Amino acid sequence: MTCCSDLDALRAAAADVRVITSDGKSIAAHSFVLATASPVLERMIDRARRGWNAECTIHLLGVTSDAVFAFLHFLYASRVAPEEEEMVTAHGPQLLALSHAYRVGWLKRAAEASVTARLTPEHAVDMLKLARLCDAPRLYLRCARLAAKDFSAVERSDGWCFARRHDAALELEILQLLEDADRRRERWARERASQAAYLQLGEAMDSLEHIFSDDGCTCAAADAPPCLGLRLLMRHYATCARKASPGWCTRCKRMLQLFRLHASVCDRPADQPCCVPLCSHFKVKKETEKADKTWRLLVKKVGRARAMSRLAGREAVPELVAMSWARYSSRGAKSR
Ligand SMILES: [Zn+2]
Ligand SMILES: [Zn+2]
Ligand SMILES: [Zn+2]
Repeated sequence: MTCCSDLDALRAAAADVRVITSDGKSIAAHSFVLATASPVLERMIDRARRGWNAECTIHLLGVTSDAVFAFLHFLYASRVAPEEEEMVTAHGPQLLALSHAYRVGWLKRAAEASVTARLTPEHAVDMLKLARLCDAPRLYLRCARLAAKDFSAVERSDGWCFARRHDAALELEILQLLEDADRRRERWARERASQAAYLQLGEAMDSLEHIFSDDGCTCAAADAPPCLGLRLLMRHYATCARKASPGWCTRCKRMLQLFRLHASVCDRPADQPCCVPLCSHFKVKKETEKADKTWRLLVKKVGRARAMSRLAGREAVPELVAMSWARYSSRGAKSR
């Protein structure tokens, strides 16, 4: 093993500490290297020197001797070289535990990243437990996501069977994580549905302006243009006998709501008359009557949906806008 030979070479330079592993192996090392790398090892070496321990022996227990060799190798190297990634992978969970216990931050981050990247459902429960013990939030989150995504595979793992039999707290924690994930999914579904509605209303506002523009709407019904539904609604509004009667027609009501919404998002200055019917009427009404909170929120969300849609239509779109729009419009498309 390469790390053993490295340590052998270093051992020649007057080693002053012996590291004892769980299976009784003894590794010669240098106190200044270990003490510089880890404040916990520094204290252990200090304590060993103060006692009868003339040889200065410290014990690194609970992991295999190969993992201890790898751990010491990285303490000597002070970094993980690209060609040594494999060594981190081979001892990932043990290196994570050691670097957490002996407070070697940079190695802990490297080990956590390595374990997180190679996480499989079979080990998700064990690694979740390790992540909790070692205070490794990235790994914890990944385990929780994996359990929520592929619980049937997690359920078949030895880790889950063990937790069910012997660790009720861990079982409860995982079930709680799954419930949280379900609740999150439901909330996202609700948000997606309302985003799609705001997007449709934003498109309806564009269609209104298009229908009443100077060029007018000349779209053929056979092409099923986006303005077709509005044109049918307006035709109904023009001829509906019930629009003035008490408890009147819901379709006419919807038409008026759309005109009101247009007036709320219309940014044409007062000296330029707007071509959309009732725009000035609703604008005057807006000045005199304060709209309720729900309506103000609706106006804000529709305005934002239109702004996003227009920005995304430009050729040079900032990456952030393009990403948000892709998510936004795919949500809309899915729920339609
Ligand atoms: Zn049209
Ligand atoms: Zn009607
Ligand atoms: Zn207007």
